[in-house]
Order: sequence, then structure tokens, then C-alpha cells
Amino acid sequence: VNTTGKPNISREKSAELYAKAKTYFPGGVNSPVRAFKSVYGTPLFIEKGDGSHIWDADGNEFIDFCCSWGPLILGHNNAKVRERVIEVMQNGMSFGAPTALENELAELILKNNKFVEKLRFVSSGTEAVMSAIRLARGYTKRDKILKFEGCYHGHTDALLVKAGSGLVTFGETSSAGVPKAFADETIVVSLNDTEALKKAFEEFKDQIAAVIIEPIPANNGLLLQSKEYLQFLREICTQNGTLLIFDEVISGFRIGFEGAAGLYQIKPDILTYGKIIGGGLPVGCYGSSDEIMGSVSPDGPVYQGGTLSGNPVAMAAGIAQLTEVLRMGFYRDLANKTEEFTASIQRFASARSYKFKVFTIGSMFWFAFTDKETITKAEEIDPASMDKFKVMHHELINRGVYLGPSGYEVGFISSAHTKVDLERAKRAIFDSLDLVFN
Ligand code: PLP
Repeated sequence: VNTTGKPNISREKSAELYAKAKTYFPGGVNSPVRAFKSVYGTPLFIEKGDGSHIWDADGNEFIDFCCSWGPLILGHNNAKVRERVIEVMQNGMSFGAPTALENELAELILKNNKFVEKLRFVSSGTEAVMSAIRLARGYTKRDKILKFEGCYHGHTDALLVKAGSGLVTFGETSSAGVPKAFADETIVVSLNDTEALKKAFEEFKDQIAAVIIEPIPANNGLLLQSKEYLQFLREICTQNGTLLIFDEVISGFRIGFEGAAGLYQIKPDILTYGKIIGGGLPVGCYGSSDEIMGSVSPDGPVYQGGTLSGNPVAMAAGIAQLTEVLRMGFYRDLANKTEEFTASIQRFASARSYKFKVFTIGSMFWFAFTDKETITKAEEIDPASMDKFKVMHHELINRGVYLGPSGYEVGFISSAHTKVDLERAKRAIFDSLDLVFN
């Protein structure tokens, strides 16, 4: 495609690599969204990253707003993270026995996060959520879980479930290979709908082990919820003996060290983390009170383990990254920078009456092709608007700006994004918006 007069960048080497990759991996990728199915062209194969910039196999340079889907809050190849990782690697990669590094990362987290008393490290966000769900079920001795349409919690069977028809429904599987019997244990309701929640609790009284939510839903657009709604959720869970799980795999350490729980000052029963916690290496974590975590093996009856859990190299990356974000003013600076960037894009679009809205919180943003002032539910996103995102994405690639390849995904700003980067990116975004709307 060529959506504009601007010449397409050279993508020959990426295309060659992709052709090969398709013979090795389903869709040529090891995670579906990377396949560029929702945007024009084929995936860019990335060769290196430094600060806020990435370079592809053809040597094209981009300002990166995907940041590995969120983990890289310090940008690519941060010297402090890299040096700590290299230092630890000198002593070996994995022991399958406890190391002091696990204590060090746990201490960093527990000393600075009042919502968690004890935690367990795993190797991905999916694993964290899967384990949290098992813990909630084991602790409450109940089977059902309730999730929200538009929240993503990784690819664990019980949560690959979407809303069926009707106000309160059992879920329908959203992936082949998930037994219907599993989906029958998952109730799905709309976000920001107190009536649907009340009805679900009436209908399944004393059966719901846990309600799981992304307190800042950021996997299906950025569906910002009100504090009142989240508080309502807290209360209804408490009244019903149901555990509230905040899935903070994206929002944890992103919206502040204490994530969304800290922002809203709402205490969930279990928290899950991933992404930033591992500094770009595979780490996930779930945590709760001492009492609830007492149910986890070997202290309690809920089994969960992992060969590479608490891997020393990954712990080292996490320690180095979390040490940096704890520096005074880190989150304030990041949020200010993001606010300036997004406000200026919104002013540009509004001045031209473009149906375009930038939703933002902390250092995340989402470009929505809409004239709605707020979007709080997945159903409020017009799928047809994604055609506009496709054009924008393509134009931005040709102008050296890399956004995640789907209009439902949010963008991330890191501490490595400079004023100059953001000015350059803004100009590219303005040009792309002009092309989309004219
Ligand atoms: N939970 C949330 C909120 C996520 O955004 C993700 C991934 O994007 C996951 C869980 C799954 O994490 P992972 O991809 O590390 O398995």
C-alpha cells in the first residue's frame, strides 16, 4: 500500500525475514499481534533499540511508543539495567534454588507497596493471573470467576472468555481449545455497569471466588473507569466474600510504584504484576496478604511452581529497573511529559474538528477515532474507526514513528523519550492526522 504521496520506507529485509519466519512459526510470529494483521504491510523485524529509538533490519530508525508493550519504562537498553544483568550473568544463568536476588527484588517491592504483604515470582503476566485465579478459588473454595468484557488477562483458559448475549451471562470461549465447561465457570459483564454486577452477584450468590479487573483497562483501548465504580466493585466483593483481583500487569509500576491500587487508594485482595517488574526480561508476580498467600504451596494447599521462577538474571533486571523508578519525581516527570505531548495532539485535532480523541493516564495514551468525550466500555468503540488507525499507523511508520500494530493497543512513553523525540513524533502525528481526515 501507499496511502500518501510520502514514499514508503524500504522494508525488504524485514519482508525476507518474515517470509522465512512464516515457515517456522504460525503466522510467522511468536505472539499474534506482532503479525501486523490489523495494519498495513508485514511486520518490521527489529534489530536493536537504544533509549526511545529502535532500528529495523533495513536500517530504518523509529521513535518507539510500543516499548515492548509496556515493560521498558526506562526505554531500550538502559545502561543501569544492562550492567546489572551482565554482572549477575557472570555467575551463571539459573540454579533452581533460592538466591539473594529474589529477596532483593521482593524487598524493593514490599517496602514501597502497602497493598502487598507477600508475593510469589513467576515468569509472565499470564502465569501470574493463572496462579492468582487458582489461589482465589483455593482460598474461597468457590469455582466461579467474574471478568469484564474488554479486559485482557493473558491466555489462561478461564479468561479467554467473552460475553455471551444478555445482561449477565456465562462466558463464551474466545479461543478454540478452551472447554465449554471452563467458560461456564466464568461470568462476563460490561465495564462501568453497576446493575450488571449486582445482578451477577444475585444470580450466583456464594459461588463467585473472584472478580478480576484491569483497574485501568488498557488492552482494548484505554477504558478509564471512575474511582467510584472501582470502589463499588471493592464493596460488592467484600459483601459477598468474593476476592477482588487487580490485574496490574500493565498499570503496575507504570501509573506510580503502587500502580492503580495506589492511584485510587483501593485495596484489592490479590494483585498481579508483569512487564515493568522484569526490566524487559520474563518476570511476573502475584501478591496478597500474608494470610491469603498462606494458601500457596508449600505453606498451603494451592499448588504453583516454576523451573525458572525467580530467575537470577531476570531478578537483576527487575531490581535495576525498579530502583530507577523509585527515584524522586520519576513518575511526575513522566506524566508531565506525556500530558504535554497528548494535550498538544488533542489541541491540533480539535482545532481542525477531527473526530479524534487522545485518552491518557500517567505515561500511557490511546488514539481513538471518535467524537465521544469518554469511552468506558468495550462496546463503545466503533470497529469501523480502526480503518483510520490503519492509515495513521502506516503513515507514522513512513515518518519514523512506531506504534503497536493495532488500534486497540495503547502507547507507552518512557523516561528515555526526549523533548526532541516528542516534538518530532508530534509533527509526524499531525501530518498523519491531516492525511487520515482529508
Ligand atoms: N494481564 C494484562 C493486564 C496484560 O496486559 C497482559 C499482557 O499484555 C497479561 C495479563 C499477560 O501477560 P503476558 O503477556 O506477560 O503473559
